[in-house]
Amino acid sequence: MIDFSFTDEQRALRELAREFAQNEIAPRAAEYDRQSRHPSDILEKAHEVGLMNMTVPEEYGGADLGMLETCLVSEELAAACSGIGTAIIANTLALAPLLLAASPTQLKQHVVPLCRGPNLAALCMTEPQAGSDVGAIRTTARLDGDHYVINGTKTLIDNGGVAQSYCVFASTDPGQGVRGISAFVVPADLPGVSVGKHEDKMGQRAINTSEVIFEEVLLPIENRIGSEGEGFSIFLEALSRNKPWIAAAAVGVAGAALAEATKYAQEREQFGRPIASFQAIQFKLADMAIKIEGARLLTWHAAWLVDQGLRHASPSAIAKCYASDVAMEVTTDAVQVFGGYGYVKEYPVEKMMRDAKAFQLYMGTNEIQRYLIAQDLVR
Ligand SMILES: Cc1cc2nc3c(=O)[nH]c(=O)nc-3n(C[C@H](O)[C@H](O)[C@H](O)COP(=O)(O)OP(=O)(O)OC[C@H]3O[C@@H](n4cnc5c(N)ncnc54)[C@H](O)[C@@H]3O)c2cc1C
Repeated sequence: MIDFSFTDEQRALRELAREFAQNEIAPRAAEYDRQSRHPSDILEKAHEVGLMNMTVPEEYGGADLGMLETCLVSEELAAACSGIGTAIIANTLALAPLLLAASPTQLKQHVVPLCRGPNLAALCMTEPQAGSDVGAIRTTARLDGDHYVINGTKTLIDNGGVAQSYCVFASTDPGQGVRGISAFVVPADLPGVSVGKHEDKMGQRAINTSEVIFEEVLLPIENRIGSEGEGFSIFLEALSRNKPWIAAAAVGVAGAALAEATKYAQEREQFGRPIASFQAIQFKLADMAIKIEGARLLTWHAAWLVDQGLRHASPSAIAKCYASDVAMEVTTDAVQVFGGYGYVKEYPVEKMMRDAKAFQLYMGTNEIQRYLIAQDLVR
C-alpha cells in the first residue's frame, strides 16, 4: 500500500522550517551571497529551534528524526537560500560516518558536545588531485605507537574553517587505493590542523568552503572510526544515505525559481498583455512544474528507503542526479522567463541558477551518479 499523507508531526516540522526559512533566511540571503559570509547568527537560531542534527539519535543530542523529515526541512530552507540551508544541515552528512561506524563511547565523546550548541562538523575527502577518484587521496595516517600522525590537504570542504570537528578520510595503507582508506574524527583545535584557501564560489556562497590542512597532526588511536581500511565503504554509505536531502534542497531551489517565474510572468506585460498569456511561457512553466514534481517524488522515495533500512544506493543516486539536473534546468528556464532582468542581481533568479549548479557537482558529480546507477543495472 502507498500512503502519501504526512503525520501531524511531519506537517508541523515542515511548517516550522518554512517559517524559519521565510523569516530568518530569505530576507538576508542576497546579502550573505554577496559577501560570501558564514551565517553564524542564523545557525544559532536554527539550533535553538531544533533544525540542526536532525538524524542524530536523542541519546547523543539530536532530534532522532528520519531522512524524510530531513528532506522536508531541507527543501524549505533551500527555497530561501541553499547555501545557508546546506550550512544548517551539513552536520547530517559530516556526522553520518560516526553514526554508522563509531562506538557508543566515541559517539558520547564526539557527537554529544557537538550537538549541544550551533557547532559544525565537516566531511573531508576531496583533495587537489583526488576528486571523483577517491582512491588517489594522498592524505596519510601513519600509526606511531598509540597515535596516528595525519598529513595532507583537503580541498573544497563545506564548513571548512568554521567546523569544530572534521571527519577525515586518510590512507593507512598507501598503495592499496580505496581499500587502504580509513576514517578519523579530528577536533579542529588539534595542533597541526589549519585552514587554507577560502573558496570564492560561483553559488551557495553563504556556506564556507575551504581547504583544510593537516600537518603532523597527532591523533589518539581511539579517534579512528571503524576498522583500518573500512573508510571507503563508510564514506559511500554516508553519501548514499545523505543524497536525498541534497536532492530535496535542489527541489527547494527549483520550486522557488518556478514560484518567482510564475509571479513575474503574470506581472510582466509585452505586446499589451502579460507574458503568462503566451503559450510558449505557459508551457515552459508547466514543464518546470512537471520536472519538480517528478524530482520531489524520487527524493521522498529514496528518503523512505533510507528510513526503512531498505536498499537505497541506486534510488538515492537517481534522486540526487535527477533533482540536481532539474534544478539546473528549471532555474535556467526561470532566468529565461525573466528575460534580460533574469540576468541581473536585482532579481532573485540569477542567484538560484548559480546555486543550483553546485548540486550537480558535490556528493559525487552527476557523471559519477550515472556510473553508480549503471553499475547497479549491469551487475
Ligand atoms: C560547492 C562544493 C562543496 C563541496 N563540499 C565538499 C565537502 O564538504 N567535502 C568533500 O570532501 N568534498 C567536497 N566537494 C568536492 C566534490 O566532492 C568534488 O568536487 C567532486 O567529487 C568532483 O571532484 P573534482 O572536483 O576533483 O572533479 P574531477 O573528479 O576532476 O572531475 C572533473 C570532471 O570529470 C568527470 N569525471 C571524473 N571521473 C570520471 C569518470 N570516471 N567517468 C566520467 N566522468 C568522470 C567529472 O564528473 C567532472 O565532470 C565540494 C565541491 C563543491 C563544488
